[in-house]
Amino acid sequence: QAKQNGRNCFAFFNLNLREQAQARMNLLKNIRRGIEKQQFDLYYQPIVDLDSGTIHKAEALIRWLHPRQGIISPAQFIPLAEESRYINPLGQFVFTRALQTLNILREKIDPNFQLSINVSPVQFSCLDSGIDQWPALLEAANLPPSAIVAEITEGLMITPEHLTQQRLKSLVRSGMELALDDFGTGYSSLAYLQQMDADYLKIDKCFVDNIHANNQELALCKAIITMAHQFGLKVIAEGIETTEQRHLLMELGCDYGQGYLFSKPLPEPEFIALLNNSKTND
Ligand code: C2E
Ligand code: MG
Ligand code: MG
Ligand code: MG
Repeated sequence: QAKQNGRNCFAFFNLNLREQAQARMNLLKNIRRGIEKQQFDLYYQPIVDLDSGTIHKAEALIRWLHPRQGIISPAQFIPLAEESRYINPLGQFVFTRALQTLNILREKIDPNFQLSINVSPVQFSCLDSGIDQWPALLEAANLPPSAIVAEITEGLMITPEHLTQQRLKSLVRSGMELALDDFGTGYSSLAYLQQMDADYLKIDKCFVDNIHANNQELALCKAIITMAHQFGLKVIAEGIETTEQRHLLMELGCDYGQGYLFSKPLPEPEFIALLNNSKTND
């Protein structure tokens, strides 16, 4: 999804038009090769229950482990992957990889562990994205649909496209859970929030960044949390970096938190180690 806050700004702008086109072509070619050579993997960031400090959920975030360029962040390739529809094979990889990790976590650590994955609007609108096979893939992996939370952005709720709305409904009907990602940065509409069958609302990091005692952002977060709870949604605050932010959000009744204060996104083995550690500290 095209995020407007600059995180996506791939440095094309100081190139001339022809160089820009060339850079896009190169990136596109590299994405295709990266998919062929299986250079993508998922990192996992814990979602912490703010009251108890326990971890029963995490968000899966894609990383490109490039042999020469190192770890490439999704902001640098998701927009072009969406435009070119390579997001469809990437999205299928994300889904199946998340199922593997879920099976390990549920077997070894916590039988109810839940993973969130980010789903692009392009995956909802492309006929052959593979989304329709997800309930069957979950069943084949012996996992209940509620083991997965699909993170979607607000824009998806208001798209009138029939296929997208049908697929959203059928994912919800299958028992998968839904989270509204980056809440507050798009076309937040109370009316749609009420209609949506979402389970979680994620307050965008930009509100959390500026939260201080008695300021505007605090009032805004308070309003969002109250409203979300009235519509039956649990609230996850993104990008918590300080204990002050954590405590202010807890006072507002925010249910879960995610951010560097708790942990950065980690490769699977380190994430498993973190869970094992936090379990022995319970
Ligand atoms: P998002 O879904 O809103 O994910 C949260 C982003 O915030 C992640 O960036 C995470 O690493 C970062 N973050 C979490 N806590 C903190 C913090 O305390 N401080 C700071 N500075 N950052 C924090 P990441 O992994 O680079 O992903 C960026 C965006 O790329 C995601 O935003 C999501 O929109 C997209 N994305 C990531 N993985 C996938 C994927 O598998 N599929 C699709 N379609 N999009 C993805
Ligand atoms: Mg997300
Ligand atoms: Mg539901
Ligand atoms: Mg987000």
